[in-house]
Amino acid sequence: MLEIQNLQATVADKPILKGLSLTINAGEIHAIMGPNGAGKSTLGYTLGGRPGYEVTGGTATLDGTDLFELEPHERAAAGLFLGFQYPVEIPGVSFVQFLRESANAQRKARGEAPLSGGEFLKLAKEKAGLLRMDMDMLKRPVNVGFSGGEKKRAEMVQMGILDPKIAILDETDSGLDIDALRICGEGINAIMRKPEKAVLLITHYQRLLDYVKPDFVHVLAGGRIVKSGGPELALELEEHGYEAVAA
Ligand code: ADP
Ligand code: MG
Ligand code: MG
Repeated sequence: MLEIQNLQATVADKPILKGLSLTINAGEIHAIMGPNGAGKSTLGYTLGGRPGYEVTGGTATLDGTDLFELEPHERAAAGLFLGFQYPVEIPGVSFVQFLRESANAQRKARGEAPLSGGEFLKLAKEKAGLLRMDMDMLKRPVNVGFSGGEKKRAEMVQMGILDPKIAILDETDSGLDIDALRICGEGINAIMRKPEKAVLLITHYQRLLDYVKPDFVHVLAGGRIVKSGGPELALELEEHGYEAVAA
């Protein structure tokens, strides 16, 4: 599904990704772990097409389509979802409005008819329920005054509504208490653990992986994958640290 080959990328002219290769098949959940500054977020942003992240070599394809030929919104329409380490606040725009606009923009890009008000509300309620989010909460401005956990849960509601093929989730577990962690983990499983979908979890800690069991774990250091293994690798990292395991 997602095939990354020898990816090289710079941020502010500084080389960050230095030949990263990774293949993710449908039905698989992968986790990328690594020390601060390793380039984990840069990988997500580069695949998502964030301005300022320049591809200087290598390729990335989603179901055979060259991602780097597409604008960011076209990548989303092609089925790529990026969850952010720091979700943005948008004063003046309610979350339901934001969700409906993004769902319909994506449907338009896919050549599908927009959702009616009723259809959208039914979908939003279903996904909000999965994340134990009150619909009243989603009537508030996007993320304004939301706790860390509420931001991440709201983001998972958005993921449920957009129904991506592959989700790249950057530190979805950061700032979550135990309950929010479990709710987000269960939400990710309910929405994305399907034979036709895939997930790339970017995380520092093993704890999210207790809820969302990865099939493969990779260590990213110095801009490339330096080690890959099964779920046991995450436990090994937690116990011994990156330096000992990835050296
Ligand atoms: P991680 O997510 O693994 O902690 P990042 O991908 O955020 O790492 O950052 C990788 C490196 O790129 C770091 O050294 C960071 O300082 C640098 N970097 C990230 N964004 C910028 C930027 N906008 N300008 C300059 N350097 C940046
Ligand atoms: Mg970091
Ligand atoms: Mg990061």
